[in-house]
Amino acid sequence: KLYNEIQELKGNIRVYCRIRPFLPGQSMKHTTIEYIGENGELVVANPMKHGKDSHRLFKFNKVFGPTATQEEVFMDTQPLIRSVLDGFNVCIFAYGQTGSGKTYTMSGPSASSREDWGVNFRALNDLFQIAQSRGTTVLYEVAVQMVEIYNEQVRDLLSSDGPQKRLGIWNTAQPNGLAVPDASMHAVKSTSDVLELMSIGLTNRAVGATALNERSSRSHSVLTVHVRGTDLETDAVLRGSLHLVDLAGSERVDRSEATGDRLKEAQHINKSLSALGDVIFALAQKSPHVPYRNSKLTQVLQSSLGGQAKTLMFVQLNPDVDSYSETVSTLKFAERVS
Ligand code: ADP
Ligand code: MG
Repeated sequence: KLYNEIQELKGNIRVYCRIRPFLPGQSMKHTTIEYIGENGELVVANPMKHGKDSHRLFKFNKVFGPTATQEEVFMDTQPLIRSVLDGFNVCIFAYGQTGSGKTYTMSGPSASSREDWGVNFRALNDLFQIAQSRGTTVLYEVAVQMVEIYNEQVRDLLSSDGPQKRLGIWNTAQPNGLAVPDASMHAVKSTSDVLELMSIGLTNRAVGATALNERSSRSHSVLTVHVRGTDLETDAVLRGSLHLVDLAGSERVDRSEATGDRLKEAQHINKSLSALGDVIFALAQKSPHVPYRNSKLTQVLQSSLGGQAKTLMFVQLNPDVDSYSETVSTLKFAERVS
């Protein structure tokens, strides 16, 4: 109850933490995760220290441990999805170092079965189901766009000419204006339409990437779902939107080692993730100035951050000791905005 009140004070931002399991084949290393509480408490232990000083407590709206299923994670996300059909703008994103489970949470493992579906497929599936159940009173139309933000450039992942063209961003100060009007818009009627589109998007995202140079970890992908509902009796129209974001990996790149393209990428990622943190921090503080203009990412997401919009951040963690310093830096990011 208390959390709900805090949440409202903080302008509809909620933060969930998810810890991925050790992977099969990965030898069971020591974990830094000391304790996961029922009410969103998380205690991490510093492997370099002993005694009381080695432990730190963090608080989230919810913590999902390594055994949490995709379904359990989605159950707590579902109410947000419903509100999109009531005309709200919602943003759900996953933050964490590469390998911490961002894509697993947002989409699921590759070639996933229904049971493994991540938030995005479950969300769309829900949207269609609820829309259908309201079908006698409201006619819903759903359309999606999918873009990638790489080195502060926005590209259409669903364009029929491939993802080459750079797209401009419009000011979305007007409610429900399109942030990226030139990204192709695809009407979808079922979850299988969405699955098909997303596989095209993911293929386009991989263009130019080599195994060593996996681009998806260094670009942000944004799936935007636009919903328009027409009341069949009054003809009144309501619009809602849902942004589903798989962020670039938050790991810090060693400046002494990175050069050229790698360094440039790292600087762009760093800039956009800090801009996102600054926007959410400003919103949480109810600051009169929210610095949306500082990155392409925050400009694209503007309509679903702040105002009446609802925002959910998944803070993704690796359980192992080797990730300790990245884990702490991820938790600090989360702590600042929650
Ligand atoms: P990221 O997108 O943050 O780089 P991934 O989602 O690709 O990380 O996850 C890294 C690996 O861990 C993948 O093999 C993924 O299938 C696995 N993984 C992540 N989270 C889970 C989970 N909750 N349960 C099982 N496997 C997971
Ligand atoms: Mg990923």
